[in-house]
Amino acid sequence: MTEVNEMKLKEDTELRIGVEEGEAIVELIEGRAEIFGSELEKHKRYTFQKGSRVAIFTYEGATIEVVGSGANSYTSDQTPMVIYLNTHAALEQIRKVAESDPSHRGPRIMLVGPTDVGKSTVCRILCNYSVRMGRSPILVDLDVGQGDISVPGTMGAIFINKMADIMEGFDCSRPLVYNFGATSPSENLPLYDLLVKELAEVINQRCAVNRDSNIGGVIINTCGWVHGDGYQCLVNAAEAFEVESVVVIDHERLYNDLKRDLPSFVKILHQPKSGGTETRSKEMRATSRSERIHKYFYGTPWSRLNPYTFEVNFSDILIAKIGAERLPESCLPFGTKVDDHNTKVVSVRPSSSLVHTVLAISPCAAVSQNVIKDTVLGFVVVNEVNEETQTLTLLSAQQELPSKVLVLTSIKFVDDRNH
Ligand code: ADP
Repeated sequence: MTEVNEMKLKEDTELRIGVEEGEAIVELIEGRAEIFGSELEKHKRYTFQKGSRVAIFTYEGATIEVVGSGANSYTSDQTPMVIYLNTHAALEQIRKVAESDPSHRGPRIMLVGPTDVGKSTVCRILCNYSVRMGRSPILVDLDVGQGDISVPGTMGAIFINKMADIMEGFDCSRPLVYNFGATSPSENLPLYDLLVKELAEVINQRCAVNRDSNIGGVIINTCGWVHGDGYQCLVNAAEAFEVESVVVIDHERLYNDLKRDLPSFVKILHQPKSGGTETRSKEMRATSRSERIHKYFYGTPWSRLNPYTFEVNFSDILIAKIGAERLPESCLPFGTKVDDHNTKVVSVRPSSSLVHTVLAISPCAAVSQNVIKDTVLGFVVVNEVNEETQTLTLLSAQQELPSKVLVLTSIKFVDDRNH
């Protein structure tokens, strides 16, 4: 039987909903409320699928109706929303200075912390609040594990000028995407740092020519890997983007380490995580990655996409791989760094080992070092390889390949049309 619950929320409280089965339909009956910074429209029904986790927060009180027996929901008045609102107010002060004096720039803030502490959610809230003030911030996502902007294994940026859709998130139809090709920076640290620098450079160029972006500022989401080399990646990213503030969510040691290692002009804040964030297991994370790729090709129940499958001949494509075999130091040409092999682009022959592999489409005309630094045109998945006929069957969002250079990733996706 369908369950209908009407809940009255007091001011500064939130209703947390985890959809365990089926779907949950949410409607704002009275008052004002928002989901991660996007305001709900009164009497509009929002549907959340199994696996979703959201919080409906209200500053001034609201009545919410929740329909669906598989929705596990509870109300909490212990939320860090007011802290996040204060962070937003501080960013707004910096924007005002940038607005009145073109020699200043807008805020550059980086969110760091372990996995599942709500970093992406806080980025979404801060972007939404700034859009509600008429700003156009840039959201940078360095978390190659989740791939919120494109598919897992990428880092990128979107230029935001409208609030995130409650169900679909931000409009990612024209993202700036770099292919890292793996879900953890540990798989190729030199490449990760190089791409972070490249992305920072492109963002700086955008801010130099686009005043709205410059004022709106840059909000940066990062990976949850905060120890050892992961920590160094965060320090490098803070430097590359020249951030002036870092918010550490729920990790005192990380806060102290960053205070020690980042320049003193960088403001470092330690903030609590929301009790509503959910800790995901390795398996759940893998499932959510696969769902992300599925969404890239097939869309969502509310905005379906129809991908294509077609065959290409081995001879019609060029496959590039970033990272060559490591040569012993004695064999390296004079002046070459040992690490260079990690960022060397080489050609590989198509073979059956490519089955289920995600490939990035590079705009380059040939396999060259440019493959690394050029933003990608999209992704395809190898559904089948036929060595006899020397053909690959590709799953593609586009009707035909816009370029012949495809870049290997270590990410797999099993295309199941009945999914
Ligand atoms: P991180 O980026 O640190 O890995 P996320 O922002 O992805 O963390 O949050 C983890 C999960 O918790 C997501 O499913 C998100 O929707 C959920 N979540 C975040 N904040 C809340 C909240 N206040 N109530 C309920 N769920 C939340």
